[in-house]
Amino acid sequence: DYGFFNGQFISLDSASVNLEDRGYQFGDGIYEVTRVYNGKCFALDRHLARCRRSMRELRIPITYMDEELTAIHYDLIEKSGIKDGAIYFQFTRGTSKRTHAFPDQVIPNLSMTIHESTPNAEQQKNGMRCITCEDIRWLRCDIKSLNLLGNVLAKQAAHDKGVDGTIQFRKDNNLITEGSSSNFFIVKDGLIWTHPTDNYILKGVTRSILMEEIIPKLGYTVVEKAFTPEFALTADEAFATSTSLEVTPVIEIDGQKIGTGTPGPIAKALLEEYQKLVQKECY
Ligand code: PMP
Repeated sequence: DYGFFNGQFISLDSASVNLEDRGYQFGDGIYEVTRVYNGKCFALDRHLARCRRSMRELRIPITYMDEELTAIHYDLIEKSGIKDGAIYFQFTRGTSKRTHAFPDQVIPNLSMTIHESTPNAEQQKNGMRCITCEDIRWLRCDIKSLNLLGNVLAKQAAHDKGVDGTIQFRKDNNLITEGSSSNFFIVKDGLIWTHPTDNYILKGVTRSILMEEIIPKLGYTVVEKAFTPEFALTADEAFATSTSLEVTPVIEIDGQKIGTGTPGPIAKALLEEYQKLVQKECY
């Protein structure tokens, strides 16, 4: 497995982090995860645009052009020899003596890693079982920040229960926001519902591709409106989306079947069309 740190390609076991990196001490930084299919980056432009937005929102200065970040992605692919995998990259605000407010004149640190992986085809075919849990994250979930404790605890709750994932709901209004590392959708009476893009969810790249390119093409309609866990249980189908899940059906929530308890036809059609797009772009 291979990595990159501030201009140097490195093997992961030789990399080290400065103890006073603000990412390490404050979680003061942002990240992206991009997917590599057949040695090619999928939807990298969308990930780079979101990365820029996250940095702008946190006032972390830009120190790499998009062309450079793209080139580093392809260098990592080439040096690692990985054809199918995921690339993680993060910018932290930089290294400086610990003090909460932004330090003056600090240069952001960029680190990247590549690992081999492929989407979980069995889960895509059979669907995931999920539990609901309270969304305890902060109020800027639209920023892909390094602070992931709310997501980590949610994912662990799913592991502890022996299920595949969680769907978070807000305690103040009982509305579902998203999955612990995915966006969440239901289908009811032929319409697709999902939480609107505001500060309570991450605007997923997969969600955007679905809503801008795939759903209109297949002639379906999306309602961007939040819904309760109780309403979700009355849905005909449900599914989650992310860079790693692509489109994965959710067949059970809190032990109750969604629809027939098997992957629904719309989720299946969306996954198929998504994979066609991947084929077109990367093969
Ligand atoms: N929401 C959260 C909280 C996530 O961590 C992710 C995964 N990055 C997503 C949604 C899905 O985003 P994407 O489709 O860009 O992977």
